[in-house]
Amino acid sequence: HVFSDPAEVEALRGNLLAWYDRCKRDLPWRALVRGDCGNWGPALLPAVWVSEIMLQQTQVATVIDYYNRWMQKWPTLQALAQASLEEVNELWAGLGYYSRGKRLQEAARKVVFELAGQMPRTAEDLQKLLPGVGRYTAGAIASISYGQATGVVDGNVIRVLCRLRCIGADSSSSAVIDRLWDMANVLVDRSRPGDFNQALMELGATVCVPKAPLCRECPVKQHCQAWRRKLFGNPPKVPDVEDCGVGDCPLCPPATEPWDSSLGVTNFPRKAAKKPPRAMRTATCVLERRGCHGAPEYLIVQRPSSGLLAGLWEFPSLPLAQDLQEEREREELADHLQAWTGRPVAGKDLRFIGEVIHIFSHIHQTYVVYSLPLDGDVTLAPALSPCRWVTEDGFHASAVSTAMKKVWRA
Ligand code: SF4
Repeated sequence: HVFSDPAEVEALRGNLLAWYDRCKRDLPWRALVRGDCGNWGPALLPAVWVSEIMLQQTQVATVIDYYNRWMQKWPTLQALAQASLEEVNELWAGLGYYSRGKRLQEAARKVVFELAGQMPRTAEDLQKLLPGVGRYTAGAIASISYGQATGVVDGNVIRVLCRLRCIGADSSSSAVIDRLWDMANVLVDRSRPGDFNQALMELGATVCVPKAPLCRECPVKQHCQAWRRKLFGNPPKVPDVEDCGVGDCPLCPPATEPWDSSLGVTNFPRKAAKKPPRAMRTATCVLERRGCHGAPEYLIVQRPSSGLLAGLWEFPSLPLAQDLQEEREREELADHLQAWTGRPVAGKDLRFIGEVIHIFSHIHQTYVVYSLPLDGDVTLAPALSPCRWVTEDGFHASAVSTAMKKVWRA
């Protein structure tokens, strides 16, 4: 399961980089790295930092527009450090995992106000000093922006490396992840570390894809043990008895789930079964009034500054206990709404609109959506959280989550 032959490592680097030079996708953050790497100024916001944070758990196609708007608005660390959290949330709205934007801004503030505007330049310092920068992001920034010869391991790299070396143990276990980091650090090209890391990730994103990898077109197929095993049906050669002990190798597929020839190279990687997401129900109500020009306005309230969807705006909402009767749900929501309307609300006056389902990474959320038009002059009671009336356009321009946009459409 290791790359023990220096000549093979050299050949793999050369093949991968030559393919990357020919085939890499034209992505906006790559253009910026290329254009600015000669005269990189400490005040610029590293393009790769923003793109890597946005790309965590989000597809490239979705990220491009957010990335371009972000870099246009805050091209420097100083500009980002001076932005308000509200502006950050508004730009991030719809991208999900909102704490990412918040922590990116906190980190920019730290660089500007505590580190005299000097970005840390090694993976170790980046991870140690900047909030929200984990091992992967630190490695990506250090290698791509600052040329440090350090590897990276993300989901794409996990898949490629597990296939290259037939690693079939649970790829989310720390034992496997540690070995993959060691391997990435051995493989990374010493003279072009940023390009090598991007090439490995690009290979996973475009060729060595999860379901139907394009092995025949793969630039590193001659180094791939999974491909060899698919072609010849033989187990890979064991390079070192200590690395792959007979019978209980910690990196081989478990004896209970051996190689399945019908799966070919997609035998790797393997993951332990995921825990199912937690089910939650939340009642939410679209309160509507006539604004001063007669146009409808809607009440939105701000969520707490920590936890899920921190600081974002939503229609007044109330988490519900599971298995509550509909009548009881209405009553609880009606009680909750009194805090906002300053007058009694009857459960029977709430109009049921429907249920909206949104899957967060670990929560299966069902929003039970109601609406309530309010007559006459509505004065908001002083409530616990900030709140405001917005028009339809105001709603869409606010920092609201994708889940609330679904509620709006309902
Ligand atoms: Fe992935 Fe196939 Fe290339 Fe191996 S040969 S690295 S499985 S695409």
